[in-house]
Amino acid sequence: MSTSSAPFLPFIPFTRPHFDQATIDAVAEVLRSGWVTSGPKLAEFETALSEYFGGRPVRCFANGTATMKIALQVAGIGPGDEVITTPISWVATSNVILSVGATPVFVDVDPVTRNIDLNKVAAAITPKTRAIMPVYLSGLPVNMDQLCAIAKTHELRVIEDAAQAFGSQWQGKRIGSIGDLVSFSFQANKNLSTVEGGCLVLNNADEAKLAEKFRLQGLTRQGMDGMDVDVLGGKDNLTDVNAVIGLHQLKQLPAFQARRSALAKQYFSAIRSAMHSAGLSHMQLELPVENFINTNWHMFQVVLPLAQLKVDRAQIMTELKELGIGTGVHYPAITGFTLYQKLGYKLDATPIAERIGRSILTLPLFPGMADEDIGRITHALVTILQKYAKP
Ligand SMILES: *Cc1c(COP(=O)(O)O)cnc(C)c1O
Repeated sequence: MSTSSAPFLPFIPFTRPHFDQATIDAVAEVLRSGWVTSGPKLAEFETALSEYFGGRPVRCFANGTATMKIALQVAGIGPGDEVITTPISWVATSNVILSVGATPVFVDVDPVTRNIDLNKVAAAITPKTRAIMPVYLSGLPVNMDQLCAIAKTHELRVIEDAAQAFGSQWQGKRIGSIGDLVSFSFQANKNLSTVEGGCLVLNNADEAKLAEKFRLQGLTRQGMDGMDVDVLGGKDNLTDVNAVIGLHQLKQLPAFQARRSALAKQYFSAIRSAMHSAGLSHMQLELPVENFINTNWHMFQVVLPLAQLKVDRAQIMTELKELGIGTGVHYPAITGFTLYQKLGYKLDATPIAERIGRSILTLPLFPGMADEDIGRITHALVTILQKYAKP
């Protein structure tokens, strides 16, 4: 494949949201209704989500970041507390820990799952540790049994950053239907999107009340009997415009999910056979965990064998882009960011995360992709790897 053929092929972004006509019509209806912010559609969406999560209380928020911050507030985590998390995540995960005044403690990742290595968590626990915040990268959950056992032994809260894991499961149970506090994001790239939004699965009515209070300025009451505020809250409510989109996405989720799985399956066989045909079987291109039961296939990520290549990831991404293929980096290790370096975190303290953060590459995967796209993307990637293979 030569770069000159690229202009004739449509660009494939790494992801693209899908909103059907019924969703667009429903948004128009909300806009015409005269009630556009949090109201009946939000209540309906929260009820639908609660049913989805086996009857547990669910509250929605303006975005996944606000959702996670409120989860920490509901758990009473603040200054002086430590929260154990992973360096391989969207920076929101550790930013929210800092934003409530607590301290993120980074534990290295497992090279296969790319999620927090639960075997290394115990060594990071101190008398100040209050919670564990695992992240399910690409929607692949951690071992929930092991996670819950650690939390129980050390009396810790678990706040799951399940932003990418809507529709994922653990031993036949949906992520969110089990666990402690479970946070999801409905941002545009996520498997279920409300454009922006998020939801938190809680344990009981008291926690749900507390979450509502933090969601709206810390108001305890508002009405004929006056108004009172007893904690510092924000303005983090989800609107009916977003909620109605979510209701429609929830109906389409099984179809989205089936398509994502089918495309992921195609990637595994296409990449393996193309690597073999290109004589690159010796190259250690790392594929995702081939788990078609637990994962919602939020992303299809490979870890590039940079030690066996003459170029870096940026060059590979540039050449893929020239061939009309969008890719992404999810994510560089958080500990390398200037803010975190200034706070004293060291990139080499978590060497596996450092390597993965430098080498991971997200290939396009979204329900609207065509089968042929998999072949085109695979061919482009393998051709580039072949071109730059060290002898
Ligand atoms: C998307 C995402 C978030 C944040 O969600 P927003 O809705 O963008 O605020 C947090 N953590 C992870 C792992 C994410 O992928």
